[in-house]
Amino acid sequence: MLRIEGISKTYPPASGALRLLMRTASDVPVVALRDVSLTVAPGEVVGLVGPNGAGKSTLFRIVATLLEPTAGTVTVDGFDLVSHPEEIRRRIGLVLEGARGVYGRLSGFNNLEFFGVMAGLDHASARRRARELLEMFGLADRDRRVFGYSSGMRVRLALARALVADPPFLLLDEPTRSLDPAGSAETMTLIRRLADAGRAVLFATHRLDEVRDGCDRVVVLTSGRVRFDGAPAGADLVALMEQTP
Ligand code: ADP
Ligand code: MG
Repeated sequence: MLRIEGISKTYPPASGALRLLMRTASDVPVVALRDVSLTVAPGEVVGLVGPNGAGKSTLFRIVATLLEPTAGTVTVDGFDLVSHPEEIRRRIGLVLEGARGVYGRLSGFNNLEFFGVMAGLDHASARRRARELLEMFGLADRDRRVFGYSSGMRVRLALARALVADPPFLLLDEPTRSLDPAGSAETMTLIRRLADAGRAVLFATHRLDEVRDGCDRVVVLTSGRVRFDGAPAGADLVALMEQTP
């Protein structure tokens, strides 16, 4: 079980030098999450929806141990984020926003082989796992470089990468963002299959069709606050998405 309890996050103001470099950097603290709580159980697909800037990526970065929360706790199978980050990392597969995190100049096979070894598999197991995942995700043309992949293939490879160490929890940050409706439907089918195999999936999207059709539960996040947590059927998600502080 993934439990997120009372998570808040305030980004400190950017330093003067950083503000010069990044026009978007803020000179006041930015409150990205306010007292966010939610759970994801094995076998469950939970959709996290919210407009740009709602705090979705911040929440993913916190759960993936990349960013410390200002307040609140996260536990994964009872392990606490702050005291046992390595236990959390071992259990979580992460797909970053935009399905980045794979090497364009390597083939799909070499990417998965590399990340398998990085995850602690011996070389033979990493190669075996890479073949298995390429097969499973319909990427069996194993020598093709990722540069030449379509957006859909890139997303499938990013999912495969997240699965090299067979983690029971998946965090997918807008995996379908760059996909057409067919690619989105295909990704939702894959996500469902991964959950049916017993994994807990939390995935961010701003496509309401995906949460209506593909999720067991939907959590609506706007301005860093949870506005709704429940079954998508019957909820007026459009109205919920428009709530602000
Ligand atoms: P989403 O993924 O839902 O679009 P984010 O988590 O990326 O939302 O952003 C939530 C808020 O936090 C936004 O106001 C954003 O500008 C701000 N933010 C995100 N990352 C940083 C950062 N590294 N430093 C300061 N503010 C940030
Ligand atoms: Mg985001």
